[in-house]
Amino acid sequence: TPDLDLAAIRQDFPLLADRPDGTRAIYLDSAATSQRPRAVIDAEVDFLRTANAAVHRGAHTLAAEATEFFEDARATVAGFVGADPDQLVWTSGATAGLNLVAYAIGNATAGRGLPASARFALQPGDELVVTETEHHANLLPWQELAARTGAVLRHIAVHDDGTLDLESAASVIGPRTRVVAFPHVSNVLGIVNPVVALVEMARDAEALTVLDACQSAPHLPLDLPTLDVDLAVFSGHKMLGPYAIGGLYGRADVLADLPPFLVGGSMITRVGLGESEYLPPPQRFEAGTQPVSQAIGLAAAVRYLDGIGMGAVHAHEVRLERRMREGLRSLPGIRLLGDAEGADRVALCAFEVEGVHAHDAGQFLDARGISVRVGHHCAQPLHRRFGMTATVRASAAVYNTDDEIDELLNAVSGIRGFFGAGA
Ligand code: PMP
Repeated sequence: TPDLDLAAIRQDFPLLADRPDGTRAIYLDSAATSQRPRAVIDAEVDFLRTANAAVHRGAHTLAAEATEFFEDARATVAGFVGADPDQLVWTSGATAGLNLVAYAIGNATAGRGLPASARFALQPGDELVVTETEHHANLLPWQELAARTGAVLRHIAVHDDGTLDLESAASVIGPRTRVVAFPHVSNVLGIVNPVVALVEMARDAEALTVLDACQSAPHLPLDLPTLDVDLAVFSGHKMLGPYAIGGLYGRADVLADLPPFLVGGSMITRVGLGESEYLPPPQRFEAGTQPVSQAIGLAAAVRYLDGIGMGAVHAHEVRLERRMREGLRSLPGIRLLGDAEGADRVALCAFEVEGVHAHDAGQFLDARGISVRVGHHCAQPLHRRFGMTATVRASAAVYNTDDEIDELLNAVSGIRGFFGAGA
C-alpha cells in the first residue's frame, strides 16, 4: 500500500507483535474495540506519572498543569471532528453520550433546566425516529424517552441490500418528528449512510439530528459541522484510544439550550440549598470527576490517526474491505449481510455460514488465531430483519494487512467442510 507504511504502523501496536508463545493475533474485531498504539498507552501513563492532579479545581501548579493537558486534549479531539473545543463534551463512551442527550431532552420535557430548553420539550404524540439498523445504544435511550414522555418511537426501514430506505425515511419523518437519530455507519452492515439526505429531511421537519459516529470516526475523515448534524457521539476505545472515554459533539446553539443530565460538582456557577445555576457547555454536561487520563490518551489516539492521515487510513481500509468482501462473496455457503453493490463502506463484513452456528464458526476461527466477533452485535432488530439471530463479524482497522484478510478467507473456506455442512 503506497499511502501508508504498514510495517511501521504495526510496530506501534504492542499487541500485534509476536506473543511470547510464538503465536500472533490476527485481530479482526476492531469494530468491538480497537488495539492501542504505544503512543496512546504512553500518553496516559506519562500523564499519571508526571502531571496528575484534580482538573478545574486546584489553584496549585500541578492542578493548573493537569487542567492545561486536559483542555488541550479537548481541543485536539474537537479538532479531529472539525469542531471548536466548547462543542465537545467528554463522556464515558457513546452509550453515555446518547443517554445524556435522551435524558436531557426528558428533563426539558419535564420543564427542568433552562428556559431556553423548552425548545426540546416533547408533547405526547411527538415522534422520535431511529433506523432499523441501530446499535442498542442508539435505540434503548429513545425507547425509554418515549415511555417517559408519551412520544412515539418510529423507525426508518432498511433495504434487503443493507442500504437505508430513503422513501421510508421520507414517509416516517414528518411534522411531528422531533428527533432523528441514526448511525453514520452501522456496526453490522458497515455501509456509510447518506447523512446529508437524512439531515435535510430532519431539517425540513425542524427535528433535532443525532448521529452515532462510533463506526465512522476511526475509519474516515469526519467533519461534523459539514455534515450539519445537531449532535453526534463517538467512542474512544473504538478509535485507538482508551476505554471509558467518548465524545459528545453538539452545535453551539443546541448545547447552549440543552439542560443538563447528570448534576453535581464542577458544572455550576452558583449553588443554593434550594436551586442552582449551571455553567455553559461543555462543563454543564461534565458533572463530577472526569476521565482525565483517558481524555489525554484519546488526544494521543487522534494525533496518531492524523499523523497517518485519515484519507490514507480510509483508502487502506477500503482496499482491505474489497479484498474481504470479494473473497467472502466467492466462497460457497456464505451469506453476507447488507451486501449492496458499490456502497461506500468501512472494512467490516458480517456474514452467516450456511449450516454452521455463528458461535461454532467463531470458535473455529479462534482456534486458527483469528479474532472475530459472533452474535447479534447489539443489533437484535437488524438481525431479526434479516431473519437471523447471530452472525460472524470480521472488522479491520488501519493496522490490518492483506495477508491477514487472506488468512481469514482461507480459514472461512474450511468452516463448512469441518462441520460437515455442505461441500
Ligand atoms: N454505537 C455503535 C454503532 C457501536 O458500534 C457501539 C459499540 N459497539 C456503540 C454505539 C456503543 O459505544 P460505547 O462502547 O462507547 O458505549
